[in-house]
Amino acid sequence: MPVNVLNLPGLRVLDFKETDTDYHVKAQPTVVSKLCPHCGRSNETVAHAQKTLFIRDLLSHGKSVAIHLDVPRLRCKPCNKGYRSSSEKFKSKVLQEQASNTATLLTLADLENKAESVFGLTPTTEASIPAADSTTPLP
Ligand SMILES: [Zn+2]
Repeated sequence: MPVNVLNLPGLRVLDFKETDTDYHVKAQPTVVSKLCPHCGRSNETVAHAQKTLFIRDLLSHGKSVAIHLDVPRLRCKPCNKGYRSSSEKFKSKVLQEQASNTATLLTLADLENKAESVFGLTPTTEASIPAADSTTPLP
């Protein structure tokens, strides 16, 4: 198994599988921030579950790459709120790093733009506010 198949410094590769059309990579972030986004504390955070993120459609050597990313779900004891260790940030970082390795990749921003045009709100037209009539004195 190639230890660093993704060549992404932020990921530790746990498992790797290759099919005719895909690479499947099981990976873990090398660093997990335990900082609670709600109260800013980090010393009483507990990991209580593992959430697998799925990142797809990264192309490498003509094959599609699927990353199964194990990210711990964390719970902050003082405020009793759960959160994931900034998985969105992490995903975009992964995609950025991958972008610097290959030329054919869409960035996360591109994907989000596309998703927005499909799922975003339809713009509505607001009526313009009529100009105040300065010839009539206020009551
Ligand atoms: Zn907290």
